[in-house]
Amino acid sequence: MKKGVDIGGSFIKVYWEDGRTEKHYIRHIVEHKELFLNKVREIVLDGDPSQVGVAVAGFTSLDGVVYKSPNIRALDSVNLSELLTDVRAKIVNDVSAGAYGEWFYSHRESRVLLFIAVGTGLGAGLVIGGKPFLGACGSSLEAGHHTIVKGGELCSCGRCGCWEAYCSSYGLERLYHRLSEQRLSDFEIVKRAYEGDGVALRSVEEFKSYLLLGLMNMVHLFNPDRVVLGGGLIDALKGMLGDIEARLKAVCEKLPAECLGVHLSDCAEYCMARGALAMVLEDDI
Ligand SMILES: [Zn+2]
Repeated sequence: MKKGVDIGGSFIKVYWEDGRTEKHYIRHIVEHKELFLNKVREIVLDGDPSQVGVAVAGFTSLDGVVYKSPNIRALDSVNLSELLTDVRAKIVNDVSAGAYGEWFYSHRESRVLLFIAVGTGLGAGLVIGGKPFLGACGSSLEAGHHTIVKGGELCSCGRCGCWEAYCSSYGLERLYHRLSEQRLSDFEIVKRAYEGDGVALRSVEEFKSYLLLGLMNMVHLFNPDRVVLGGGLIDALKGMLGDIEARLKAVCEKLPAECLGVHLSDCAEYCMARGALAMVLEDDI
């Protein structure tokens, strides 16, 4: 049986072909390279899968080398294909896998699907004509690091003014801090916004304005018929994103706006593992 594995900074998640899921806590070993890589191998091989799709948060080449993983330093420069030689494994960037999973399970009629995941960081993936678009060497759609403010806020990548610097957990926390001089976690800010707290609501509105700005750029670049929003922070904000499609269409050119639909992902925390599985269910991907 085939399975998908999503290697994150806190958990490794597994999604089996029969719908079973597993969640392994690994945060405590993520700084210990050898221990961590042994654990990855053990989880990938567990249950003797016939084939495994592996989704990795980070810059991952088409032949399975993780060039840089901002949240999982133990993976930097690791050749995952070499680590996993005793199983047929396909290794891809996590959000590219997530995008393919959205198309495969929920949006087969889409011709150009753009998936944006907002959580710890901001990632994107694109599926064109039912095929994931991975770029020439596996690094396409690093949308979180396209600049939306020249000389703007510092991003996790070291550059300034990236989309992620505003639209991510730490981006929202910083927006809140700028308005209140108070440091709160993203989920506390969201909770307060639902309770009607004025500063929290203004922070969320600021976050949404940057979200819309980046999405407008993406729509003008790729002309998608589906934009699917997912990730932990989007899930948490679901109740406050009901206006996002209308607002996005209003700021985009008429032609790309006409064929555009915005959807909120419903696959929650197993999106990337499910997408990684989908990538090995289709042989010609
Ligand atoms: Zn960046």
